[in-house]
Amino acid sequence: MQQTTTLQIAHTVSETRAALREMRRRGLTIALVPTMGALHEGHLSLVRAARTASDAVVVSIFVNPTQFGPDEDFAKYPRTFEADCAALEREGVDLVFAPAAEEMYPPGASTFVDVDGVSERLDGASRPGHFRGVATVVAKLFHIVQPDKAFFGQKDAAQVAVLRKMVRDLNFGLELVVCPIVREPDGLAMSSRNRYLSLEERRQALALNRALREVERLAAEGVTPAQKLIATAEAVLAGEPAVRVDYLHAVNPDTLEDVADTRNGALIAVAAFVGATRLIDNLLLPGKPR
Ligand code: AMP
Repeated sequence: MQQTTTLQIAHTVSETRAALREMRRRGLTIALVPTMGALHEGHLSLVRAARTASDAVVVSIFVNPTQFGPDEDFAKYPRTFEADCAALEREGVDLVFAPAAEEMYPPGASTFVDVDGVSERLDGASRPGHFRGVATVVAKLFHIVQPDKAFFGQKDAAQVAVLRKMVRDLNFGLELVVCPIVREPDGLAMSSRNRYLSLEERRQALALNRALREVERLAAEGVTPAQKLIATAEAVLAGEPAVRVDYLHAVNPDTLEDVADTRNGALIAVAAFVGATRLIDNLLLPGKPR
């Protein structure tokens, strides 16, 4: 185990368990923030929320191969481990768990977590097997770390729905905390994948947030039919022809099923390709008080 002034870095499950045993022996409550690294302010907002809510913060950094499709960006996904650890140390994180793929998936591993239903919707429809990979790795992280609370971003709204259901269905004894989307000053949702964008694509990508803000404006005026809101978002996105929409839906945030009307609340979720880069963003519309 490497040890800097405050930050411990573990690469194996047994080192991680040993460090956690020590924390628990001291009576500390433990928060987990799962990430794939290439950390930005969005990730750090989760770390800060975790820090406030718990005595000890564990951050996992693992680019999980099972959640990438064969034609996706697993090989080129940004890996900035040294810089990530430096940032986490500045944030007062206690432990980084950064396993190799063979540590997480021993040869012959054949057990997976399928959250049927929600896993096939939104990103799950576009990226078959994606949420099976996510649910499996997060379940494993929950077993290894056994946190009191685990922190996730609203940025990945479909992932939140899948994991909430998994926590409920499999009786994980932890609280799942969801933190708001952190954006660049011009509105682009922060993402490790934003670094793939050229300057021109970076500008084009702003259409996603523009479309959501337009939906928000209409919703604030009292417009509730999903069809109207989605048509408005589509029109904004069509104004940026370089942006190729993958999905755009108004859904129930828990089941991810389409809703016809948003008056009881809805998730407006969008995924789009800008060049070769797939970006996601969303807006949570609150239900009207009845
Ligand atoms: P990732 O490293 O992309 O797997 O993300 C790790 C966690 O950070 C997930 O729970 C994401 O939802 C969250 N996250 C990523 N980007 C943002 C953002 N812009 N704002 C808030 N949370 C985020």
